[in-house]
Amino acid sequence: MKTCEKFARIQADYQRDVTYLSNHSERHRGQPSARASTKHAHTAKQNMARALSRHFYNCRLCG
Ligand SMILES: [Zn+2]
Repeated sequence: MKTCEKFARIQADYQRDVTYLSNHSERHRGQPSARASTKHAHTAKQNMARALSRHFYNCRLCG
């Protein structure tokens, strides 16, 4: 599977959000804000998967 630079950029953007949210939930473990972050991290991962597969499907360079 070959992917283009744009694919990598989309992935990096979402990954940064996921990492940020995961770190936040680590730091605030057991608190309500941690649970919210965990949920947001999960959503961000799903959005990443969706965005990447959409890009992959539509992109001439990826394949
Ligand atoms: Zn692409």
